[in-house]
Amino acid sequence: MLVSAKEMLNKARDGHYAVGQFNINNLEWTKSILQTAEELKAPVILGVSEGAGKYMCGYDTIVGMVKGMMTGLNITVPVAIHLDHGTFEGAKACINAGFSSIMFDGSHYPIEENIKLTTALVNTCDILGISLEAEVGAIGGEEDGVVGMGECADPKECKQIADLGVTMLAAGIGNIHGKYPANWPGLRFDVLEAIKKEVGDMPLVLHGGTGIPADMIKKAISLGVAKINVNTECQIAFSAAVRKYIEEGKDLVGKGFDPRKVLAPGCEAIKDTVREKMEIFGCIGKA
Ligand SMILES: [Zn+2]
Repeated sequence: MLVSAKEMLNKARDGHYAVGQFNINNLEWTKSILQTAEELKAPVILGVSEGAGKYMCGYDTIVGMVKGMMTGLNITVPVAIHLDHGTFEGAKACINAGFSSIMFDGSHYPIEENIKLTTALVNTCDILGISLEAEVGAIGGEEDGVVGMGECADPKECKQIADLGVTMLAAGIGNIHGKYPANWPGLRFDVLEAIKKEVGDMPLVLHGGTGIPADMIKKAISLGVAKINVNTECQIAFSAAVRKYIEEGKDLVGKGFDPRKVLAPGCEAIKDTVREKMEIFGCIGKA
C-alpha cells in the first residue's frame, strides 16, 4: 500500500534496521524495485529526483505509474513515493501530485532560511499525512568534475531543524553522492553520534549509499540511521548488464532486439542490487 515513510522509519529505528530508498528512472526501475520489495516482504521508498520527475513526464505520471503497478503486481508491502532533494517549488508540486513523502533540501541555504522554508512545509505535510525529510550540511558529490570529500553537519543545527517537526533528517557525516573516491576517509561516526545525541528519536537518513562498505552501513544503523538512499549502484548494475547483452550480440539473435529482452538483464541486475542492499540494511521480512 502507498503510505508515508513515517511509520516504516519509526519501526526501523526501533528495530535497529534501515529502510532502503531506491531512486527510480522509468518503468523498468520501478517494477524491479517493487517486485523485489514484495518478494522479500520489505518496506520500500521509491526516490524521485526532480530531474527524474521531468524525465518521466512529470509527477502525475509517476504517481499514476506507481499506483497502477501496485495494483497490477499485487504489491502488499508498504511503499512510499518520495521526492529526493526537492526544491521548495518541487515539494509543493509533489504534494499536489499525491506523493506520500517529500524531501525538502534547504541545506544550501543559510540555516535561518532553511528553517523558514522547512517550517512552511511541516504543517502542510502534517495535515496531509505526508512524511517530510529535511537536510542539514550539504552532502558532497561530484560537482563540475570535482569530487568533494563530504561535509559534516553541525549537530546544533540538526537539532534546530529536527525540532521543527520533520519526520526524518538527512545530515552530512562525510557521505557523498555517486562513486566514492579511492582516498575517501570513511563515515564520521563521531559526528553521527553527536547528531544523534542532539536529535534524540528522529530517524536519520544516510544519503550516498553506493559503495559505503557494509560494516560502515551497519554501524551507522546502530547509531540511529533508519533510511539509506541508493541510486548510483542500481544505475551501474543496470548499464553493465545491458552492455553485456549487447556486447555478446544477443540483440542480433532472433528477436533479441525486442526492448523487453534488451532491458531484461538490466532489470535482473537492479533486483540483485536491491536484494543485496536490503540484506545489509536488515529490512527483509519487516513489511
Ligand atoms: Zn541525496
